[in-house]
Amino acid sequence: MLEISKRLLTIANYVNPGSRVADIGSDHAYLPVFLIQNEKAKSAIAGEVNQGPWKSALQHVKEAGLSEHIDVRLGDGLSVIQNGEVDTICIAGMGGTLICQILEAGIKRLPSVSQLILQPNVAEKNVRKWLYHNGWELKGESILKEDGILYEVLSAVPGNPDAPYVNKNWSRNEWFEVGPFLWEERSPIFKEKWEEEYKKVERVLNSLEQSSSPEAMAKKEEMSIRLKWIKEVQTCLQMDKP
Ligand code: SAM
Repeated sequence: MLEISKRLLTIANYVNPGSRVADIGSDHAYLPVFLIQNEKAKSAIAGEVNQGPWKSALQHVKEAGLSEHIDVRLGDGLSVIQNGEVDTICIAGMGGTLICQILEAGIKRLPSVSQLILQPNVAEKNVRKWLYHNGWELKGESILKEDGILYEVLSAVPGNPDAPYVNKNWSRNEWFEVGPFLWEERSPIFKEKWEEEYKKVERVLNSLEQSSSPEAMAKKEEMSIRLKWIKEVQTCLQMDKP
C-alpha cells in the first residue's frame, strides 16, 4: 500500500467514498493510487499535460497493478475528461492562479461535477474568489504544515457561494484571503501563517527603507496598509472563539 504525504492525505480525506475522481496535474499519480487502494474512489483519471510526469504516472499506476482502475491521460487541464465522467475533481500542488485558469478553461465540463478539492501552493485568495464568482460553495478548508511549508486545502460543492461569508464583519475580498473555515477553526498553524505573513511584509518594508523613488513610496504605502491589516487580523485571532 502506498504511503502518501500529509498534504495528499488531507486532500484524500475530502473525497467522498465511492467517488469517480479526476486528479488534474497528477504528476506521479500518488493521489489516485492511494484513493483506489484505500477504496475511497470507485474509479480515477490521472491527467497530465507534460510528457515526463505523464510517463511517471503511467509507471506508478502500472507498478501498483491499478492500470484497470486508473486511466492515465495526457492533456491540458480538464480537456482530459468527458462530461459526466467524474464527480470529483482534485487539482493540487500548483499556484492558485493556474488552478483558476484550468477551471476557467474547462468550465463546460463542470456542470456534472459535484465536488472540487483544490490545494493551491500560493494565491489561495484567487481560488476562493473564483469559486465564489462561479457558483461554488466553499464547504471545508484545512491548513497544514509539512517539511516547513504551509498548505491550504479547499473543498467546494455547487451551491450558495455566499453561505460561508454571510454575517461576517470583513469584506468579501478580505475573507477570500483569510478563509472563513480556517478562521472558525483558528488553529495554531493558521496563527503561524499570519505571523509569517506579517514578517514577510515587514521584510519588504525594510528593503524599501532606503529608496525614495515614486514607485518605492507607493509600494511602501501599500505595504504599510497591509501590515496594519495583518496586525488587525492577528489581534482578532488572539480573541477567544465566539
Ligand atoms: N498534483 C500533484 C501533487 O499535488 O503532488 C503534483 C503537483 S506538481 C507540482 C504539478 C503538476 O501539474 C506537474 O506535474 C505539471 O506537469 C502539472 N500541470 C501543470 N499545468 C497543467 C495543466 N494545465 N494540465 C494538466 N497538468 C498540469
